[in-house]
Amino acid sequence: MGVPHVVVIGAGIGGLSAAIALAARGLRVTLYEQLDRPGGKMGEVRAGGFRWDTGPSVITMRFVYDQLFALANRRLEDYLELMPIEPLTRYFWHDGTVLDATADLVAMQQRIAERFGTDEAQRYRTFIAYAQRLYEIVREPFLFRHKPTLRDLFRLPIADVLKIDALRTMHQAVRAHFKSPHLIQLFDRFATYNGSSPYRVPATLNVIAFVEMAQGAWYPRGGVFQLARAFEHLATELGVEVHYETPVKQIVVHNQRAEGVILAEERFVRADAVVCNADYAFAQQTLLPASVAQRRFPEPSCSGFVLLLGVRGHFQQLAHHNIFFSQDYPREFADIFTRGVPPENPTLYLCITSKTDPEHAPAGHENWFVLVNAPALSGGFDWQANIDAYANRVKDALREWMARIGEPAPEIVVERHWTPLDLQRTFGGYRGAIYGFSSNTRFAAFARPNNRDPRIRKLYFAGGSVHPGGGVPLVTLSGMAAARCVLEDLGSTTQGAAL
Ligand SMILES: Cc1cc2nc3c(=O)[nH]c(=O)nc-3n(C[C@H](O)[C@H](O)[C@H](O)COP(=O)(O)OP(=O)(O)OC[C@H]3O[C@@H](n4cnc5c(N)ncnc54)[C@H](O)[C@@H]3O)c2cc1C
Repeated sequence: MGVPHVVVIGAGIGGLSAAIALAARGLRVTLYEQLDRPGGKMGEVRAGGFRWDTGPSVITMRFVYDQLFALANRRLEDYLELMPIEPLTRYFWHDGTVLDATADLVAMQQRIAERFGTDEAQRYRTFIAYAQRLYEIVREPFLFRHKPTLRDLFRLPIADVLKIDALRTMHQAVRAHFKSPHLIQLFDRFATYNGSSPYRVPATLNVIAFVEMAQGAWYPRGGVFQLARAFEHLATELGVEVHYETPVKQIVVHNQRAEGVILAEERFVRADAVVCNADYAFAQQTLLPASVAQRRFPEPSCSGFVLLLGVRGHFQQLAHHNIFFSQDYPREFADIFTRGVPPENPTLYLCITSKTDPEHAPAGHENWFVLVNAPALSGGFDWQANIDAYANRVKDALREWMARIGEPAPEIVVERHWTPLDLQRTFGGYRGAIYGFSSNTRFAAFARPNNRDPRIRKLYFAGGSVHPGGGVPLVTLSGMAAARCVLEDLGSTTQGAAL
């Protein structure tokens, strides 16, 4: 038998990561992507002299990308300059409080002490130690290995099962640690990093706070899209054949085994294994034969509404990452997850990469990326009919914030928007969800689909909608996990274990 051939569907971060891990182990890999570029949701837009990232802006868990490149005996820094970002985020509240978050624990304690008192600073220390313990317990069984089963959970020492804090919600645990409503809101926000609600996700997800607040956040010089380009560069160097503008129409299944794919151009491509990076639910609905496809899916994560603004001026009070908190956080998440409408008074996230890379905007201007959490598509809100009204609401809120912090009203010279409908149409995402499925239930980690299809042999999934979940680092791990499954099943057990 010759070298096994693997087809990967999708050049998102999950697909590229799987392709790299497989090619690094000597497999022949062909990747088909419907768009004309790599990265999937990690994209970029240029207009009127401005450049914006359109998807991720906060990159955490740097060591995950180092690990991926190490699989191919390469160093990430030879492909990309990943810079630590400080402040991690500048947080603004309506009462005038401003806090620059830093990954320097001592400096952060100091800043908390100055604004919220020394007791709260001590509580911060306790909270980070608690989140670190969570991280150390869940890291191996929940993130770095195959999808955990309930049996795996029961195999953990009983003390560890209790320590993962899955019986409380994130908000309950955060509220038990802090007294300041500001800090409670700040730490509750980390639930949105995988598209969930702090009032519903298990407190286990406080690991996200540890990952950012203690390990830090990075920004790839030139824009986050450069990370996708770096993955693409490595994949092609390893011999992965990448075909852009080549949608896959169907995954061919015969006798419960994936045998290849049919491209939209009606050509059959045979494969020893198929790794699907298209969204899991979308793939079940459109790429798999109805006779074998799944029809029931967990709750989708939230989606988002994005405004890309080219603005005149330099706004001294703003940092690279900024959060303008709403006054009623519970209401905001009830709008998203219960009422199914975009928040009436949203928290605004504003990222300005031209603060770090001035060439991302013409002289005397800034490139504003504004993100508002929004519900997955459900029929509860008609984006087509209401897009201008909602965009105006967000722009009004931005103007009010600028007035509140003593900045001039932003003069917008270029404007683009992305709605959940665009996310669904462009990437084939399930109901426009950004992070696949939400983690809003206690057993979400166990309900998330596996990287190895349980019923169809030689079919694998990589991406935010499968184990271990959404967000760039986890999606990278997901690609590596799918590759490990392929290698094990194709008879390279030792190679699989080495990944
Ligand atoms: C606005 C926004 C902000 C975000 N912010 C952050 C952040 O700050 N930090 C963070 O870590 N994460 C963030 N994320 C989430 C992060 O972008 C995703 O979790 C991750 O990029 C998803 O990667 P993926 O490989 O799972 O899927 P995708 O990026 O969706 O890639 C799937 C690929 O498959 C292709 N495809 C689908 N169907 C087919 C087909 N039939 N044939 C061929 N190709 C196909 C698609 O075109 C796409 O390129 C954000 C996302 C968005 C949209």
